[in-house]
Amino acid sequence: MSTSTATSVSLGVRDVHLAFDANRVLRGVDLDVPRGATACVIGPSGSGKSTLLRTVNRLIEPDRGDVLLDGRSVLSDDPDALRQRIGMVFQQFNLFPHMTVQRNITLALRRLKKLPEDEAVQLARTQLELVGLAGKADARPAHLSGGQQQRVAIARALALQPQVMLFDEATSALDPELVKGVLGVMADLSAGGMTMVVVTHEMGFAREVADTVAFMDGGVVLEAGEPAAIFESPEHPRLRRFLSQVL
Ligand code: ADP
Ligand code: MG
Repeated sequence: MSTSTATSVSLGVRDVHLAFDANRVLRGVDLDVPRGATACVIGPSGSGKSTLLRTVNRLIEPDRGDVLLDGRSVLSDDPDALRQRIGMVFQQFNLFPHMTVQRNITLALRRLKKLPEDEAVQLARTQLELVGLAGKADARPAHLSGGQQQRVAIARALALQPQVMLFDEATSALDPELVKGVLGVMADLSAGGMTMVVVTHEMGFAREVADTVAFMDGGVVLEAGEPAAIFESPEHPRLRRFLSQVL
């Protein structure tokens, strides 16, 4: 039954390469996220962070390398089936403006999971409650703050009961006072045992919530480790320079 809670899986990225014509954007990325762990990916603009997430989710096919869930390659899986297992949240929330919050969530459940309407509604209500928006089911996105809209987008992804969640700068488009609420939802999700990859500029979040922090530059993970090691004793000069600019 599709209403059972999905369990997290481990995620492995192995030597992933990807070029857009002559632009070699990913040049052999490796990343390991154990089951239930949270990896934060940091790094300068243009280093390939978004492309990496899109490759994991198979919005783009890598030229070389592999993506593993629980040790098994997903590169030959049906992309639609895979996107139910791997949820993704973007900087722009991508909600349908003409639909209610509830409809935004039930649509994918009806179409992808083929759930009957009453089950889809039930699941949507439960997820909205979890992100603190129980009262907003009938509102339209335009009547919500950016932070609330992003929490709806998170609820929508979670309603599909993914085994892994990817966040691509989920708070970068928000007014500063709205960032905390969204990061709080993400921290709760991490504490609850979801396997997550979080691309973020929020170094406080990376330091406090991540099990692993991976620094990307020039299409590779230059350095990865526990937050304390990355922030207190970075080894690579490029990482040191990056941290001196953002901290
Ligand atoms: P980041 O998220 O770290 O800022 P991106 O993964 O968005 O970096 O981009 C890395 C590089 O890939 C950039 O040079 C960007 O211009 C290029 N790029 C990203 N997406 C595309 C695309 N769809 N087509 C061509 N080039 C792209
Ligand atoms: Mg990006």
